[in-house]
Amino acid sequence: MNAMPRLPSTWFDGRSPRAQACDLCIEGEELVLTLESGVRRYPVREVRWAERRSHGQRQSELPDGSLIQHADAGEWDAWRQASGQREGAVVGWMQSWRATLVAMVASVVFLGAAWTWGVPWLSQALAQQVPHSLEVRLGEQGMQQLDRLFLQPSALPAQQQEALRTRFRSAVERAFPEGSSPAWQLAFHRSQALGANAFALPGGFIVITDDLVNLLTDQPDAITGVLAHELGHVHHRHGLDLMVRASLVSALVGVVLGDASGFLASVPATLATQAYSRDAERAADAFAAQLLERSGVSPSVMVAFFERIRQQEETDQDDGGHGDTTLPIAIASHPGHDERTRFFREWQREPARP
Ligand SMILES: [Zn+2]
Repeated sequence: MNAMPRLPSTWFDGRSPRAQACDLCIEGEELVLTLESGVRRYPVREVRWAERRSHGQRQSELPDGSLIQHADAGEWDAWRQASGQREGAVVGWMQSWRATLVAMVASVVFLGAAWTWGVPWLSQALAQQVPHSLEVRLGEQGMQQLDRLFLQPSALPAQQQEALRTRFRSAVERAFPEGSSPAWQLAFHRSQALGANAFALPGGFIVITDDLVNLLTDQPDAITGVLAHELGHVHHRHGLDLMVRASLVSALVGVVLGDASGFLASVPATLATQAYSRDAERAADAFAAQLLERSGVSPSVMVAFFERIRQQEETDQDDGGHGDTTLPIAIASHPGHDERTRFFREWQREPARP
């Protein structure tokens, strides 16, 4: 092995301000520091080497807290190079604006990917971990808020309500003979703001409006289908997913801006303002189709629902509409009626379950 170059330099023991002359040399994996008082050896990898800036002295920290200071930057860099020490990749990168640009783009791509895939993945995973008791509490809280905003007491006869509830219950029981269906409770409400609509909240709170019941009076199986769609959202915990996602986003924003105070307060409002993803809607539709089919009802009964909602929308447009109040998680707000109509019309019998 060739003899490595030596560099006379200055050392501070880290306790006193007294500079001591030293002599530096790299031997294999070690930095060898020769002082008047003796020789010290440090693993090269454990030294925090001076960052390479264009000006100023070079200061390196040693693992025991002592320091090497070298006034002549050029001399130091030349010695490092001659000793076969490569600049740390990070330092080299930082000197190149091009690399900086690449790093920035990479960061944006990374954040974008985290946003697109990481947040949904994480919120889904966390939503599945929420205990049922907390799910119910969040649902109750959301229910209170939506009740204030959108709902009035139902004007439907109690008998009609009970008949629809019983019809849905028996369909659920036929579809889940083992009793493995998610827990649910059904409430009927008049709602000027929401028109003909239905929605579900975490914990299994399902609401259907008088207008929707009246729109489908002669199609009670379609009502069952709508309720099954809502039960699908409960089963997949889509409402919780929205809440968790909003908390993650506001928590992230809180971390970035250094203020997380608003983050818990915003959670209940999420349910009034956010929409489920198209994937979530497809999953809820598939749940509904399966439930209908297993309970002995053709999923194509849902076609009547989509047709009448569409007619209703056209009438509303002629009348100038219901106003701008919408609840994105409610079923009439979901986009893609055509695709969904086709889905239920063309639903294929699933293979017999083992
Ligand atoms: Zn839905």
